Amino acid sequence: MLTIEDLTVDYGPATALRDVGFTAESGRITAVLGANGAGKTTLLRTISGLVRARSGRITLDGEDITRLPVEAMPPRGLSQVPEGRGVITELTVDENLRLGGMGRADRSKPADIERIYQMFPVLSERRDAQALVLSGGERQMLVIGRALMATPKMLLLDEPSLGLAPRIVAQIFATLRRLSVEEGLTVLLVEQNARSALSIADHGVVLNLGSVVVQDDASALAADSTLRHAYLGF
Ligand code: ATP
Repeated sequence: MLTIEDLTVDYGPATALRDVGFTAESGRITAVLGANGAGKTTLLRTISGLVRARSGRITLDGEDITRLPVEAMPPRGLSQVPEGRGVITELTVDENLRLGGMGRADRSKPADIERIYQMFPVLSERRDAQALVLSGGERQMLVIGRALMATPKMLLLDEPSLGLAPRIVAQIFATLRRLSVEEGLTVLLVEQNARSALSIADHGVVLNLGSVVVQDDASALAADSTLRHAYLGF
């Protein structure tokens, strides 16, 4: 379980997050929603230790991780999938996945590459292809697969649907749902595509200009047409 309390983050004189608080329950999908500039990427970077908070607290399973550096996160089971599909284009699909297994949280578990190939059959078909030739959707699957190779307890994803066709988004989101329900993976999903994110999430947090506007069950947020029109764009 990840708990965020009164989190405030500045970039120089500008405040990007102001008194943000919510809990991402274990084994559940929590969606953080909001328009461009709402502070979603800043939130993920602060959790993963890339950006320093001015004040507030981030707790992972009871441990205060607010001021820990980024390299302290993988051993604690936190794995981040950054925005923009950061695959290593010179390497093959298989090599990219194997690299992900290097930072395993649980060293007693083998990095199970065949499990990733079952999850994303298209990657299995292209395992010897250079990542350079993959489509956007395949790259997104590859970065998720690479993060999963680290056997995380919790996955942080920054806009995995960005620029992808609806059919591919549906496929990726269905896989995230399956991982949550069948394997108890905790997911924090940052998305502008609120409609798709809420369709798989358990809980939703809406950010606007760095502050939490509302948080509730995902189904309640999706059913609120005033909120949808004002902040969620659907
Ligand atoms: P996007 O979907 O565009 O990534 P976001 O919701 O992720 O938006 P952030 O990228 O977290 O939002 O940005 C929140 C605010 O902080 C914005 O006003 C942005 O201009 C500002 N900001 C982000 N990164 C920096 C930075 N490195 N230096 C200064 N200001 C920044």
